[in-house]
Amino acid sequence: MIVVMQQGAGEAEVNQVVERLTKLGFGVHVSRGVEKTVIGAVGDRRAAEPDDLQTLPGVERVVPVMEPYKLASRHFHPDDTVIQVGDVEIGGSEVVMMAGPCAVESRGQLLETARAVKAAGARLLRGGAFKPRTSPYAFQGLGEEGLKLLAETREATGLPVITEVMDTRDVDQVAYYADILQLGARNAQNFSLLKELGRVGKPVLVKRGMHTTIEEWLLAAEYVMASGNHQVILGERGIRTFETATRNTLDLSAVALVKMLSHLPVLVDPTQGTGKNKLVAPMSLASVAAGADALLVEVHYNPRLALCDGPQALTTEQFGDLMRRLRPVAEAVGRTMAGAEPGVRVAVEAAETPKAPLAGKVG
Ligand code: PEP
Ligand code: MN
Repeated sequence: MIVVMQQGAGEAEVNQVVERLTKLGFGVHVSRGVEKTVIGAVGDRRAAEPDDLQTLPGVERVVPVMEPYKLASRHFHPDDTVIQVGDVEIGGSEVVMMAGPCAVESRGQLLETARAVKAAGARLLRGGAFKPRTSPYAFQGLGEEGLKLLAETREATGLPVITEVMDTRDVDQVAYYADILQLGARNAQNFSLLKELGRVGKPVLVKRGMHTTIEEWLLAAEYVMASGNHQVILGERGIRTFETATRNTLDLSAVALVKMLSHLPVLVDPTQGTGKNKLVAPMSLASVAAGADALLVEVHYNPRLALCDGPQALTTEQFGDLMRRLRPVAEAVGRTMAGAEPGVRVAVEAAETPKAPLAGKVG
């Protein structure tokens, strides 16, 4: 349930409600909004007499929260949550671009791509060190070596890094190197992993599973939050439908809806969402128009050489072009977006090429 305090209710009145709820065995979360303070209480509602809280001084009303997710609900926290990563704010007025290769392949590949995407306006670098691949024979990622390269590239470019963690046993290691931990679609209902992510002191991107409903997705976020970590970003990356022309069906209505249901920032991954290079730009533009707070886009200096997800990666030139087209769309919906650094050419020549090209492989 939530206890909405009257406008102008003082600290003493808020504290009295918090104390009462705590005594009744509720977990309590106070959200101080611009106009009103809302106190969220998680626990067995039968423990509280309806009139008991209602009559406390400063209380405007007591409302049950019907949704099964509580901490992730906008009822609990009416204002947007803004997540700070270095000097980047996710969920604020800026639409944040996170870009980089699907997988970290080599030092040269990562550094050159990072420099190019930064020059074009990306604010975070993405790159997988642990890759969830459909085939056990496909490139599985460089593991810790990949995490070290991400950290090294952050040092060199100043871009914070986001990377996937697939296994509960790797959570501490990934949290040590990464700035944002990514929970992949295939682990959307790995409840042990979600609970572990609740222990880390870094933001977590909770991607929607390819088979999960919006409610199940929000409950995945709730797992992380209920385990203690409220720095959660929701990620739409497409769901499996009967359609086979695209790799997944990118559910942009979910973006607009989840922005209403939850206070958490929402990211869209149009790359996994479509699986097709040519669809990434139009769906990025549509995502920003639909209210996305951030985008996650795969970029490779030579997609034909990519060890993972080449057909859906943008070249660095295409990425620069996308950034230029995104900015006016962001402005049209009242947001800002970082532009290209003045005078910088975004196309790069790779310093190093990967040793074992496996062109054309997705997933
Ligand atoms: C990825 O970002 O490379 C990835 C594997 O994402 P998803 O979990 O959405 O498939
Ligand atoms: Mn990928």
